[in-house]
Amino acid sequence: MADMYTDCVEMVEVSPRDGLQNEKLPVGTQDKLELIGRAIDAGVRRIEVTSFVNPRAVPQMADAEQVCAGLPVRDDVTFIGLVMNRRGAERAIATGRIDQLGAVSVSTDRFAMANQGQTSAGSVEAACDIIALARQSGRTGQATIAASFGCPFEGEVPEHRIVEMAAALAEAGAVEIALADTIGVANPAHVARLVGKVREVVAPLPVRVHFHNTRGTGLANLWSAIGAGATIVDASIGGLGGCPFAPGAAGNVATEDVAYMLERAGISTGLNLDTLIMANHWLAEVMQKNMPSMVGKAGGFPRPRAQNDEKENA
Ligand code: ZN
Repeated sequence: MADMYTDCVEMVEVSPRDGLQNEKLPVGTQDKLELIGRAIDAGVRRIEVTSFVNPRAVPQMADAEQVCAGLPVRDDVTFIGLVMNRRGAERAIATGRIDQLGAVSVSTDRFAMANQGQTSAGSVEAACDIIALARQSGRTGQATIAASFGCPFEGEVPEHRIVEMAAALAEAGAVEIALADTIGVANPAHVARLVGKVREVVAPLPVRVHFHNTRGTGLANLWSAIGAGATIVDASIGGLGGCPFAPGAAGNVATEDVAYMLERAGISTGLNLDTLIMANHWLAEVMQKNMPSMVGKAGGFPRPRAQNDEKENA
């Protein structure tokens, strides 16, 4: 298949939700709001700000309503709330601050059971219901297919199953369909193939991709997805992230790493790398640990001359 590199991609920042949900250290609402503010300062215009799930299952997201109450008033920013069911959708809508509902369907029965207590087919139905609720309330709904490239419990996932789910979610009125490598097992050839197949059934809807870097293939997969026509990319400042219900899941691709790679390759992200790196360093202090991001450690390139002399003489 011929590559079709676009000259710009839309970045969706997922650090306040996917980035934090698996972290043991409780992060305060004010710190979450500062993270959101820093992402906006860096140029992010779509942010997954929280999830409306059972606080006993995901304690880090227990302050969803408080986060929403503190969101800046920005007409130019789309705030996304992740929801798993009607109850979550109603909570998100009731805040009056969520512009877009994010629904998640899971590709296999065993993972769907672990993640949200329903079958894969049930998770598609629930997502369609959420998208309908979003539309009825004057919002938009987007859909993510979790474990699109492999399941922690069932192993390989048939590609036709993902294509079939994508078609159903597009039919339900989602504004975009995302393929998520929840456990970081995808490879670039698989990604190119599946993005191509899904584009065929959901066009003209865009395809978004969501990669975890569990096995070091995150950026390669992302590049391959863009080459196959994906135009929207999820990423998390610092590269934090993980799924509480997926054994061994590691961080999302880091926003600063993605921005560095794409901008250097001539694909515009609308993001400011220096501001992202500062956000990484701030987040490392909040989380009391180093972030997985590589660019957060190494910095951008080319560097300003003064920094060059200082740091790269050896
Ligand atoms: Zn994720």
